[in-house]
Amino acid sequence: MKNVFLIFIISLFFLTSCSNADKTKTEENDKLNVYTSFHAVYDFTSKIGGDKINLSCLVPSGSQPHDWEPSVKDMLELENTDIFFYNGAGMENFIEKIKKSIDSNNLKYVELSTAAELIKNENDINDPHVWLNPRNVIKEMEMIKNTLSKYDSDNASYYEKNFNEHKEKLEKLDTDFLNAVSKFKTKNIITSHEAYGYLCDAYGLNQVGIEGLMAESEPSPSKMAEITEYIKTNNIKYIFYEELLNPKTTQIISDETGCQLLELSAFEGLTKEQSDNEYDYYLVMYKNLDNLKKALGE
Ligand SMILES: [Zn+2]
Repeated sequence: MKNVFLIFIISLFFLTSCSNADKTKTEENDKLNVYTSFHAVYDFTSKIGGDKINLSCLVPSGSQPHDWEPSVKDMLELENTDIFFYNGAGMENFIEKIKKSIDSNNLKYVELSTAAELIKNENDINDPHVWLNPRNVIKEMEMIKNTLSKYDSDNASYYEKNFNEHKEKLEKLDTDFLNAVSKFKTKNIITSHEAYGYLCDAYGLNQVGIEGLMAESEPSPSKMAEITEYIKTNNIKYIFYEELLNPKTTQIISDETGCQLLELSAFEGLTKEQSDNEYDYYLVMYKNLDNLKKALGE
């Protein structure tokens, strides 16, 4: 009888612990499963979704997203996802591959760049780096907020509150940029790849990119000569490099012209140091502004 009682107690213990585990799992499953393509999209989505969503990012934060390729494991995880936020406009070369390979009726694709008005470069190609204008980030975050609220209406007021907070912060960032550039002595910047069309457009700057829009190739000798000439003619003292790109060409131009190197992040991902220090869009953009002030003069 004593043994029977013991077995009863043990079974009760297991039953309770199992049901507890199930409960936690169910609660986790109640949240929307959201994937983002690369770091900028991840940062914006986490600012709106907070702890009300399960959030993951495809491209690891330290990788350059343009030419990244998803693994089979990535594809399988996407099949259990509710919403996939990506930038689009040609930013992520892997999007078509994902859309073709994923077998899921549940997965909704949301292309955030459709919230912004795309600008074209001189070769008539859309510039995908829309988030480098904070006013576009407001539109993108609004799209994220509307999407999350649509599929998770219980938390709509939470998403709305987060959006309103960040809208204010982004408007302040925009005003701080406008105030700073109004005092700049010169407006020409040399950048490692032509990612800054939106930043330049918003704040009246001119960029000369050493590499093209997608950081796709090393520049030809004639392009290098053209840039060196441009630096000398315009009396440029600084070249902007990006943390995720190979610094070889910027270094060669710097050696040839005596220009100093300064960082200007396109916020496509974070270096280990930035990620350890929890850099987000605001920290990166204010650091960019400090470096622009240094190069262009207040
Ligand atoms: Zn880029």
